[in-house]
Amino acid sequence: MFIDVKQLFEVEGQVIPFTHDLDMSAIELWGTAPFDRPIHLSGRLYNRAGIVSIVYEAQMDYNLMCGRCLERQRRAETYRFEHVLVRQLNEEDNGDFIVVSGNQLDLDDLATSDILLELPSVVYCREDCKGLCPVCGTNLNEKDCGCDLKQPDPRLQILSEFFKES
Ligand SMILES: [Zn+2]
Ligand SMILES: [Zn+2]
Repeated sequence: MFIDVKQLFEVEGQVIPFTHDLDMSAIELWGTAPFDRPIHLSGRLYNRAGIVSIVYEAQMDYNLMCGRCLERQRRAETYRFEHVLVRQLNEEDNGDFIVVSGNQLDLDDLATSDILLELPSVVYCREDCKGLCPVCGTNLNEKDCGCDLKQPDPRLQILSEFFKES
C-alpha cells in the first residue's frame, strides 16, 4: 500500500491513520514460508511540530520450523515500530530516518523490512528443545531413543586422527 504524504509534510498537526493487511507469503525463512496468513498492520502517520513520524503495530500469526527438531508450529506475535520520516537526508542527520522520495510512502516495503529485521535468524519450538537424535533421527522431545550419543562424530574422528599423526 502506498500512502500519500504530501499534506502530512506540509501541514502541522496532520494525522493519517491506517490499517492494512500485508502479504509476506512469498518470503522464505527458517526453511519454510512462515507468513501464510496476512500480517495485520495498524497505526498512524503524524506531523507534530514539523516532525513527521510513523508508529504502527504488526500483528502476525505465522508458522515456523524449529531449528533443532524441525517440528512445525504456529506462533502469534505483535511488534511495534516507530520511525521519523524525512523527505531527504541532510548532512548533519544521523540516526534512524526513513527517507520518503516523492510523496508516496511504500508501507509494504517499510513494514516488510521492519519485520524481517525484528525476527531472529533461527527459531526454536521452545527454549529447551532437545532436537533430533544425531544417530537415529528420533525427536528427543517426544521420547528417548536410547542411542549411544557418545558415539564420536565421524568428522571429529578424522580430526583426532590428524592430531595423533602430527
Ligand atoms: Zn524443537
Ligand atoms: Zn537415537
